[in-house]
Amino acid sequence: MAKIFCVANQKGGVGKTTTTVNLAAGLAQIGQRVLMIDLDPQGNATMGSGIDKREIELTVYDVLLESASIEEARVSSQKLIDAGCSFDVLGANRDLAGAEVELVDLERRELRLRTAIAEVGAQYDFVLIDCPPSLSLLTLNGLCAAHGVVVPMQCEYFALEGLTDLVNTIRQVHGNLNPQLKIIGLLRVMFDPRITLQQQVSEQLKEHFGEKVFDTVIPRNVRLAEAPSYGLPGLAFDPSSKGAQAFLSFAREMVARLGTQP
Ligand code: ADP
Ligand code: MG
Repeated sequence: MAKIFCVANQKGGVGKTTTTVNLAAGLAQIGQRVLMIDLDPQGNATMGSGIDKREIELTVYDVLLESASIEEARVSSQKLIDAGCSFDVLGANRDLAGAEVELVDLERRELRLRTAIAEVGAQYDFVLIDCPPSLSLLTLNGLCAAHGVVVPMQCEYFALEGLTDLVNTIRQVHGNLNPQLKIIGLLRVMFDPRITLQQQVSEQLKEHFGEKVFDTVIPRNVRLAEAPSYGLPGLAFDPSSKGAQAFLSFAREMVARLGTQP
């Protein structure tokens, strides 16, 4: 059965999508079978995985409303197959923005994704879910489906305060809906070691969260920011770039961590 992780942080622009897509590519490159689920109506993870969100027929929206299965809706990109880091994609587009409202009156509304993943979980080593920048019903579906949460964060002044809401939400979901849910780890992203404040916040994070802070640090790297406009993860766009190498290390760290603490 796959390990199912949400990449979540209620702040926008902190690197969730970049982390999801590049971790998926990194895991794929080291031989893991990966399904990436885009839970954000912006569809950035879909586009960044080589799938045109305007052209996909079935998306995670159809899966949440139970008019399609993941098996029917998943796609993959030839570009990523060619690059040697291919993974399956359950895509999203603007349709998903309506799902929130349509789900509200339905039964098991927060468990739809979990049920759907259970049908295909055995086919993957990892399922990675890119969450929207909110603690909405969509994110709740992700949290209810997952074993754990990977939290990308920038080492900025308010970083720790910003985590409080997310940690409380995870605690509530853990207590009420999904007892297996836990924080897998905090990933420092867009890191610039020349900035003293970032080093200080990074140290604070380690003091506060200890082992929960991943060893791998993702540097600020322009190639990671350029890659989505080519419909590629940084790892496929420029494999030798510092950003791509960091995500490959992160994929290795993830696999190693799971080996030692199942
Ligand atoms: P989120 O999904 O949390 O909104 P994104 O992953 O879309 O965040 O990242 C926000 C912006 O920052 C994007 O333009 C992305 O390309 C850029 N970005 C993310 N990580 C890095 C990085 N390590 N170095 C440089 N730019 C980055
Ligand atoms: Mg995003």
